[in-house]
Amino acid sequence: MDLGLKGKRAIVCASSRGLGRGCAEALAEEGVDLVLNGRTEKTLTDTANDIRDRFGVTVETVIGDIADEGLQAQLLERAGEVHILVNNAGGPPPGNYTDWDRDDWIEALDNNMITPITLMKAVLPGMIERKWGRIVNITSGAVKAPIPVLGLSNGARAGLTGFVAGLSRQVAGQGVTINNLLPGPFDTDRIRKTVESAAAAQGKSVDEVLEARKSQNPMGRFGEASEFGAYCAFLCSQQAGYVTGQNLLMDGGAYPGTL
Ligand code: NAP
Repeated sequence: MDLGLKGKRAIVCASSRGLGRGCAEALAEEGVDLVLNGRTEKTLTDTANDIRDRFGVTVETVIGDIADEGLQAQLLERAGEVHILVNNAGGPPPGNYTDWDRDDWIEALDNNMITPITLMKAVLPGMIERKWGRIVNITSGAVKAPIPVLGLSNGARAGLTGFVAGLSRQVAGQGVTINNLLPGPFDTDRIRKTVESAAAAQGKSVDEVLEARKSQNPMGRFGEASEFGAYCAFLCSQQAGYVTGQNLLMDGGAYPGTL
């Protein structure tokens, strides 16, 4: 299926690895020119070179922390006319509610709520003027079913989700869609990091705990970043123009509810 995106221009935040990279690759495959971001120069440059070589699209990079206001300004300036925005950032660390103080909460809110809101605010006027835009926020399955050790994520992402529920309807009549994509367990560096403490507490290896987690999923495996990217690209497509304000779970069937 041709998604009708050739020649569009996208900012994909936090995209040198993992799910952000999966989204960048899927968009590049559809002929979308990209501005990518990440904090580690080499990883970001290698990813950009690889995507450029494989898909023949323009790929620019802006190195730095996505929560940094100066970096955000640089990213927006480099991108110019933005047709697609994929919001993403690293997830907050695991822990217990007793450990988190005001600074921890501010950091989580900055990364996973305020930054995506700021970037949406910046790109929306142009999208509305052109009567076309697609915004996808990478959030988490934790929005639908909270994960106790990821309380910072549960809280910050719920705030973003509430805001997007209202905003998406406000701009729906202007040709702009905003949707949240909720990953369950995906095979990225992030999941390995989050099970490290569980493995240490249980006296098991990280691989053992990862295998146990895979077997708990109805599909018996983790998702692949390429699968996530394909879903993201579809949400950005011409064909998905009537889908907005949705929270779309992609978790191999892990969420046990009927709806
Ligand atoms: P990942 O494999 O750790 O990749 C994170 C990517 O974001 C890397 O490219 C990283 O590069 C970049 N990054 C991290 N923090 C950044 C920052 N502050 N500014 C700019 N770039 C940053 O993570 P992932 O699995 O793709 O997860 C992406 C998001 O989905 C996270 O918010 C995560 O919590 C959420 N999520 C993931 C899963 C899962 O199973 N994987 C499940 C639910 C939710 P640098 O480190 O070089 O900056």
